[in-house]
Amino acid sequence: MGQRIVVKIGSLGVSSAQGGVDIAKVESLVNDLVALKQQGHELVLVSSGAINAGRPHVKKPDEKQLSLAWQQACAAMGMPLLMSAYQKALAGYKLYSAQVLVTHDDFKARPRFLNVRNTLLTLLASGALPVVNENDTVSTKEITVGDNDQLAAMVAEAIGADRLILLTDADGLYDRDPKDPDAKHFPIIDFREDFAGIKLTTKTSVGRGGMATKLQAVRRLTPVGLDVTIATFNHATPVSRALMGGGTVFKGDPREKVKKRMSWIATVVRPSCAIVVDEGASNALKAGKASLLPIGIKKVLGSFKRGDVIAVKYQQKTVALGIVEYDSKDVLRVMGKKSAELKVLFEVVPSHVVIHRDNLFLPKD
Ligand code: GLU
Repeated sequence: MGQRIVVKIGSLGVSSAQGGVDIAKVESLVNDLVALKQQGHELVLVSSGAINAGRPHVKKPDEKQLSLAWQQACAAMGMPLLMSAYQKALAGYKLYSAQVLVTHDDFKARPRFLNVRNTLLTLLASGALPVVNENDTVSTKEITVGDNDQLAAMVAEAIGADRLILLTDADGLYDRDPKDPDAKHFPIIDFREDFAGIKLTTKTSVGRGGMATKLQAVRRLTPVGLDVTIATFNHATPVSRALMGGGTVFKGDPREKVKKRMSWIATVVRPSCAIVVDEGASNALKAGKASLLPIGIKKVLGSFKRGDVIAVKYQQKTVALGIVEYDSKDVLRVMGKKSAELKVLFEVVPSHVVIHRDNLFLPKD
């Protein structure tokens, strides 16, 4: 099943160290994102790099300290340059980018939060690639999110994402400076693990975040069930690589993941479709750990397709909801049969279970 993924790319992943958009980097990132879209994933990109992209074109202020107005001017010039690079790269696939600029206020107040959420979901449904960034040109200290790691975490929460991928220079978390040959890399970190003692040294001179802001995003999202990956953008297909376990994966709390999936199942159930089971199957399902097997099925109500969410009933009561592995017409063929008997019915048996236990939801009485 496709996942809903927020990908955040750091400034140097799409712009060059001297400033300006790095077209080749943007193209390579877009190629990777499009390949994942084609596999059925939904992707929202949070892109840094506007300030750095505009930097070469804005007159430097005299003061040593680079003023806020200078940074805002850089962002104003850099953002359209960045967007035009994204759009050009997507055009080859006949796809569109969509610019979404936000400030902290847009997430604080509920109606605005819903607005951001609905806009992003509408864009996803339209097949666009939303490119989100802080609205740096108007973001003063009071209303700024500050860094795009936090912004990406907020976006991931807002759209109910399954995971957040933070792409940066370093390939995840190390126990010391990754340049140190003795540095130990952590491939997976459990949601209960405390990484407070790890000394953090990675922070490039461009962009606002660093490992500390990334770990803040991790601390925000893993307790609510999202997986967060921190991985390097220095790779031809950095997002696919991160999805396959590259970098460091911070595992979300599995109990919250289950809850999230369950609430989804409950909202998409097909009301008039059901499978009626016998007492044995009903008891096995209620006890938790069992899948729904063909042998326990007595009746099929309504017409449904493989992948639909339907109810499982015993004596008119809903015992469970679940994602079904067979079309209703095939459930009619397999019902009452032992798993071993299925081979004679199909050239290739689609599944030995009618609903897998991982896809079952037991409503509370
Ligand atoms: N919004 C900034 C930009 O686009 C980057 C913020 C960050 O580096 O986290 O340049």
